[in-house]
Amino acid sequence: MPNWGRLLLLTLGPFALIAGSYLIASPRAAGSSTLTGGIFRDLPDLPAELHAACQQMAAKTRERFGEPLEVLTKPPFVLATDATQAELCQQFEQIIEPIAQTLAAMYFDNEPTQPVTIVLLTRTDRYRAWLKAASTAARTEYSGIYLRDQRLVVLDASTGAGTLAHELTHALCQFDAPLLPEWLDEGLASLHEESEFSNDGLLLLGLDNWRQPILAQAIENGRYRGLRSLLSEPFAQTRLAPVDYAAARYLCLWLQEQQLLGPFYRKCRQRLETLSAAEAASSEAQRTAEAQRLVAAALCQVQQVGSLEEVDTRFVAWFRSRERVGTKSATRGANAPTTP
Ligand SMILES: [Zn+2]
Repeated sequence: MPNWGRLLLLTLGPFALIAGSYLIASPRAAGSSTLTGGIFRDLPDLPAELHAACQQMAAKTRERFGEPLEVLTKPPFVLATDATQAELCQQFEQIIEPIAQTLAAMYFDNEPTQPVTIVLLTRTDRYRAWLKAASTAARTEYSGIYLRDQRLVVLDASTGAGTLAHELTHALCQFDAPLLPEWLDEGLASLHEESEFSNDGLLLLGLDNWRQPILAQAIENGRYRGLRSLLSEPFAQTRLAPVDYAAARYLCLWLQEQQLLGPFYRKCRQRLETLSAAEAASSEAQRTAEAQRLVAAALCQVQQVGSLEEVDTRFVAWFRSRERVGTKSATRGANAPTTP
């Protein structure tokens, strides 16, 4: 009998269901001592400036959205919603904090030093109206967005926790590895859009999802462009963007199954930190190219092969073998077609 109390399947339903479902589904339900007091609680060692900055951001967020919002300050997070304060607390205690702490253990060593604002809008029309008014480049059908320059996540909360997990990963990753190539940033974020906590609550593990058939089809009809191109050329800039997302996600899932995703990510970050120190004067294009090269080399190193082509052969063979044995059903989560 599985221990349901320790499972949190992030594809569980919309915001309205959270009060009922997540209360019993969270690995760290209210009252549990597991992992409380972690770095994302109001700890005394968080700098006073961060607390002050969060208070300022809370006031700004209330103003900016122009409609009554419940706002909660939980440094480094500023949370806002058009639902109730109680629902916002639940989102923090049961989803945001557990994910942030677990990702900090698995990948991210550099904590946010500035406020991260997360706005959860429960009505799709409100979310779309905001997206339109904000004049973002994002397509209006996206169900969540992370604006890096503002460290702002805005979500259509009716699409489920998977969208929140995706965008939260982006926000935390930006502080930890700002030069991370886009493909890997998106691979990690989309890995967590369909994920669950391990039974002991210490790991957040990606599962199969709706992107699987996209990659399967692309491999069969020759539209998968291969790792060398994916890792060195612009990410998701063509009409084949969904294939890029699927390939990046499944590459991360492959590494996760090999227990190499954490070592690979940290190796990448360490190399990129060296790059940011040494190449401060270089152009953005040069930095991007060098970052891509370093990350490709790190991938070859963890796979212990000499070329990306060899990595690709193994990756595609793994992907096809999963299809043959039949993986967990590739379900279409609530946020299926719309998470950028
Ligand atoms: Zn994304």
